[in-house]
Amino acid sequence: MTTPSGEAAPYPRLIVDLGAIRRNYARLQDMTAGAEVAAVVKADAYGLGAAAIAPVLLHAGAKTFFVANAHEGEIVRAAVDAQARIFVLHGFWSADVQAIARSALIPIINSPEQLRDWLAGPAGPYALHFDTGMNRLGIPMSEVQAVADLAGLRGPELVMSHFACADEPDHTLNARQIERFAAVRNAFPGVRTSLANSAGCLLDAPAHGDLVRPGIALYGGAPRATEANPFESAVTVETPILQVRSAQPGETAGYGATWTSDADRRLAVVALGYADGMFRAAQKGGYGRIGGVKLPIAGRVSMDLITLDVTEAGDAAKPGEIVRFLGPDLDVFAAASGTLAYEVLTRLGPRLERVYV
Ligand SMILES: *Cc1c(COP(=O)(O)O)cnc(C)c1O
Repeated sequence: MTTPSGEAAPYPRLIVDLGAIRRNYARLQDMTAGAEVAAVVKADAYGLGAAAIAPVLLHAGAKTFFVANAHEGEIVRAAVDAQARIFVLHGFWSADVQAIARSALIPIINSPEQLRDWLAGPAGPYALHFDTGMNRLGIPMSEVQAVADLAGLRGPELVMSHFACADEPDHTLNARQIERFAAVRNAFPGVRTSLANSAGCLLDAPAHGDLVRPGIALYGGAPRATEANPFESAVTVETPILQVRSAQPGETAGYGATWTSDADRRLAVVALGYADGMFRAAQKGGYGRIGGVKLPIAGRVSMDLITLDVTEAGDAAKPGEIVRFLGPDLDVFAAASGTLAYEVLTRLGPRLERVYV
């Protein structure tokens, strides 16, 4: 069927606003004056496409990138110039020696054993990650001096740690982690330091270090759930209405008949579903928009389709009309789905055509 607008194809698209990413990067520079703002582009830049986004961040001023593994590092290296530094969070693994050399990656070493292997092998530039209380990756604090001795004159170019509770500014673990990290600074005098993820950038200067490592803030997700988000969502999902119908009071919609019409309602079915990363849980509180009008999800999200109550949109809701999801509603949509923007972004499915504007 031809769509009334003559334009919309019946496919969902993911619109990535590169201007918003640039502005978020600049905001982070303002917030952390004095620190270098690196860019975390792991997980394909949180699902948005690292190959397209890393060059934009480079032009915005980022000189340093963080990825999870060497494979991601190779993709980012192909997208940025040879001067950019690319750190690999998941440590040094001998299987990655060639990728590290080929793409000039810098491993972030997480144990004394990895440091021994690195110094006995490639022995190029590296970073050290210390565990100051997260109990996830990192060298235990009891090994700080041993690792400093092991490194000797071939010291790291960066020492880092990671906050467990940076999104809760008053959590006592923040101060304790900063305090423990002071011992790392002392053991590696003159070496650059890095502590803060996005939420850490919102904390006071002692939480930053010389280099900050924001990820979610670049893409516009809220670093703190409880406060207004200072960053701009860079992500909108657009999808056309496939069909519109009426529902009389008492009629139900969707699998399991979990939605019941309370009045004369108009329903619209859009080409989007959980296969595209729209959580089934979003049924409770999730919505799309036409213009400024919010259109609540009516019934279960299915694999390729979502039904919306479009009564409020009136005649605007017709086949071919574009409905938008996420955008300024990213955090609300995540909360309705029982999760965070992090998970919403990284679940956005491969069927969504990525469009960079
Ligand atoms: C993912 C990650 C970051 C970025 O975290 P955001 O909360 O997205 O800013 C920073 N540092 C480490 C160690 C990470 O794993």
